[in-house]
Amino acid sequence: MAELEFAGQVALVTGGSSGIGAATVKAFCKAGAAVVIADILDAEGKALAAELAKAGHRAVYQHCDVTREGDIAAAVECATGTFGALHHAFNNAGIEGEAAPVDQATNDDWERVIAVNLRGVWWCMKHEIPAMRATGAACSIVNCSSIAGLTGFAAIPAYVASKHGVVGLTRSAALDLATGSIRVNAICPGVIQTPMIDRFAGEDGAAREALTSGAPMARMGTPEEIARAVLWLCGRGASYMTGQAIAVDGGWTAR
Ligand code: NAP
Repeated sequence: MAELEFAGQVALVTGGSSGIGAATVKAFCKAGAAVVIADILDAEGKALAAELAKAGHRAVYQHCDVTREGDIAAAVECATGTFGALHHAFNNAGIEGEAAPVDQATNDDWERVIAVNLRGVWWCMKHEIPAMRATGAACSIVNCSSIAGLTGFAAIPAYVASKHGVVGLTRSAALDLATGSIRVNAICPGVIQTPMIDRFAGEDGAAREALTSGAPMARMGTPEEIARAVLWLCGRGASYMTGQAIAVDGGWTAR
């Protein structure tokens, strides 16, 4: 489908070694893009890049901790140096933090979650935008928020604040860039079956059931369902969309 055709284009995916990021890396590759997988999960990222290269795709792994601005600059340079350009970015790396009510959350957890989930997204855009401008082509940034960026959830205050922050940052960046060729949108996944949810719910069957039944569609989403939405946001089908926060959540926020 032409709207999801990325041949000759280059994408960068942070948190690309696992879960939603890895599914998006694969989707971009299958749609013809060359992809930089940027993550701290080195073994998994290298294995994914090797698997994709073996299948004839263009993908490289670059260690990138989004709490280190120099790592982000190097990931963007990896895209331009290895593949000649950067057209699309999925700023997806994120952590859930520790579960605790707002008055019991720790300073360390707050700093860490905001540094990864919010400041990391800002630093990514800061370094991606000049590289995208240099292409002279239509480019797109998708920032990973959450349904926790649209509504409150108990006992994860830093996560909820960071994901609301991503929505605000996305809107601000979209307005800064609106008259140029770079669109900026946020995706707000519902509960998606990834290692993050396995960590969050653990072996607690009741917690898992609550997460599943919270969605009117009565199931968790798959990473591939988010990846398809990210590619659509990056593609020509979304050419008049910028500054939006799109929920892909099995109806969670419809109630
Ligand atoms: P995941 O499987 O844990 O993937 C996240 C990836 O980001 C991991 O490879 C992780 O590495 C990496 N990462 C963590 N800190 C990083 C850092 N400082 N720099 C670079 N990479 C880092 O989780 P996921 O569910 O796919 O989450 C992806 C995004 O979706 C996150 O932003 C998350 O908040 C968002 N989201 C997820 C859900 C859901 O239900 N799964 C719902 C809404 C939003 P490590 O494993 O080493 O930490």
